[in-house]
Amino acid sequence: MRISSKLLLATALFGLSQMAHAALNVFACEPEYAALVKEIAPEANVYQATTAMQDPHMIQARPSLIAKMRRTDLVVCAGADLEIGWLPMLQLKAANPKVRDHQTGLFFAAEHTNTLDKLDKVDRSMGDVHALGNPHLHFSPQRMLEIADGLTVRLIQLDADHRAQYQANFDAFKIKWNQAKIKWKKLALPLNGKSVIAYHSSFRYLFDWLGIKQVGDLEPKPGLPPTTSHLASLLKVAEQDHVSAIVVSSYQDQRGGEWLSKKANIPVLILPMTIGGDKQSKDLFSLYDSVIAKLLKVMH
Ligand SMILES: [Zn+2]
Repeated sequence: MRISSKLLLATALFGLSQMAHAALNVFACEPEYAALVKEIAPEANVYQATTAMQDPHMIQARPSLIAKMRRTDLVVCAGADLEIGWLPMLQLKAANPKVRDHQTGLFFAAEHTNTLDKLDKVDRSMGDVHALGNPHLHFSPQRMLEIADGLTVRLIQLDADHRAQYQANFDAFKIKWNQAKIKWKKLALPLNGKSVIAYHSSFRYLFDWLGIKQVGDLEPKPGLPPTTSHLASLLKVAEQDHVSAIVVSSYQDQRGGEWLSKKANIPVLILPMTIGGDKQSKDLFSLYDSVIAKLLKVMH
């Protein structure tokens, strides 16, 4: 009797310790946040919900995504309404209260930094604008560091047993990231002051950081594909301003850009929107390396 109760207790304790040490299940809306989680919490089970070839504004709330969200401890997304068209549906159908709470299981990157281009007034005639500011934050190295800091605090809050590990991983990431940031900025100096036409405001933060001016948008309005009349107006822009490149991201339709490229004799540059958008971009560091190298190749 004594032995069996001891055995039971031991089994129970073992079970508890197993639970305490079970890795966190993280659901990352976009590849850049899956990559960031892996920097701070390499032991976590990270599920990446979308790829660089998908439009993060428009994802289908598939049953497989719902099933993943049901078993998730932490959801990490860009926020600022980027996922407004699909995340609420996943949260609703997953019936997992953890992932609806912004203080615990739901982490929006945009809530841990500031966004550019917030709008006071929005009406439907403006298209799919980002009223809470541009959510494509991951090409701002400074903002990514602030987001990483916030994410570390959240991971520690959810899994205090591994506090020291998360903190050490963040500290190491911060040093490496800040060094890379200096290297990138120096490399990208020739890009400062150049003008581009681009698709959407996908690279808003990259351009802001490197001093590149986006003088035209292939979208007539956010969320709308290029039209013939809009492309004709961009041709005028291209003739007036000295435009160095037409920038399109990995998931966007290239036809409008290619038309304009032929007419205006300006190269089209396809940049990875995020990790996996080209074969070089395997983590956040190589993503930045690739994007800067590709820009320099065309705009020098
Ligand atoms: Zn957008």
